[in-house]
Amino acid sequence: MKLSRFLFVLLILSMLSGCGDSASTAEEYNPCRMEVMAMDTIMSLTVYNQPAEEGMEVLRKAATRIEELDALLSVTDENSEIYRVNHGGGEAVSLSEETRQLLAEALALCGSTGGALDVTIYPVVRAWGFTTGDYRVPEAAELSALLADVDYTRAALEGERLTLPEGVELDLGAVAKGWTGDQLMELFAGAGVTSAIVELGGNVQTLGAKPDGTPWRVALQAPEGGYAGVLEIVDKAVITSGGYQRCFEQDGVTYIHIIDPSTGYPAESGLVSATIVADRGVQGDGLSTALFVMGREKAEDYWRAHHDFDFILLCEDGTAVMTEGLEDSFSLYGGWEDSPLEIIRK
Ligand code: AMP
Ligand code: MG
Repeated sequence: MKLSRFLFVLLILSMLSGCGDSASTAEEYNPCRMEVMAMDTIMSLTVYNQPAEEGMEVLRKAATRIEELDALLSVTDENSEIYRVNHGGGEAVSLSEETRQLLAEALALCGSTGGALDVTIYPVVRAWGFTTGDYRVPEAAELSALLADVDYTRAALEGERLTLPEGVELDLGAVAKGWTGDQLMELFAGAGVTSAIVELGGNVQTLGAKPDGTPWRVALQAPEGGYAGVLEIVDKAVITSGGYQRCFEQDGVTYIHIIDPSTGYPAESGLVSATIVADRGVQGDGLSTALFVMGREKAEDYWRAHHDFDFILLCEDGTAVMTEGLEDSFSLYGGWEDSPLEIIRK
């Protein structure tokens, strides 16, 4: 980790960590909180019902785990494993067990979504400037040349050895935060925590129920600001991909950070956001990106073929669509309260 980032993390930790020290309706349940700056976002972690010392100890371990994962998976950090993989010069490289597991899950999601999720999209994402913030609109010819190397089936994973042909590069940015959420839930459960919630830059993941035994109430962000809905969950990940999360404007056109791998251009699927509710963060994260690319009809088809998760789609035409599993737990709110809400059934 770069020194400046390390100091920033320390500063954030010392400013924002603590047990039971801020106003909350759940104050009597002894919340311990910590904020960590990692993976280009602010992460907020809260565990309940732990003695102060133990609560802070588990949060410190969680912060260390997040830093480890960031150092492993960052596509821009020259010391990361992904950077090493992307500069392997076409030779087979050995992966750590963690990266191997995550990549295997990610490649399976690329396959099941028909390439709507494609972890080899990185050269295209970089050409648009989304990794650095130096945004630009690439020429069509540049994009079609780059697309020749976008194909997740060319990432050959055999045991712990991965071979990427020259020019093919990995970006696990669409699944890394979801995987991180899963690792945090495992760490908390292993430490005896039974009630916890983490927010990883828009991803929310929960362990158990709220400390009073009632479901967590998670707000769904409205693309235009404020909230579009409220969701009640226990033991779930709630993960949203939306064009509004990262985008830039040029000559009156808005370009978003989710790329359609079949065109190389930002996805234009008629959705403003895709939210997945799933048991596992990595699945929710991969699918939120993929279903955003697919758009409403293909997302419905995908859910009917798999239905081991639920979704809420906010559409550009002002309508909302959700799967039947959320019927009793989701309601529209704020500016979206009077919008049509269609329920998709098997
Ligand atoms: P998320 O915010 O989880 O939807 O992930 C979006 C990030 O994943 C982007 O910032 C890119 O780094 C990368 N990405 C964009 N489009 C795709 C795609 N179709 N498949 C895989 N990764 C993508
Ligand atoms: Mg995602």
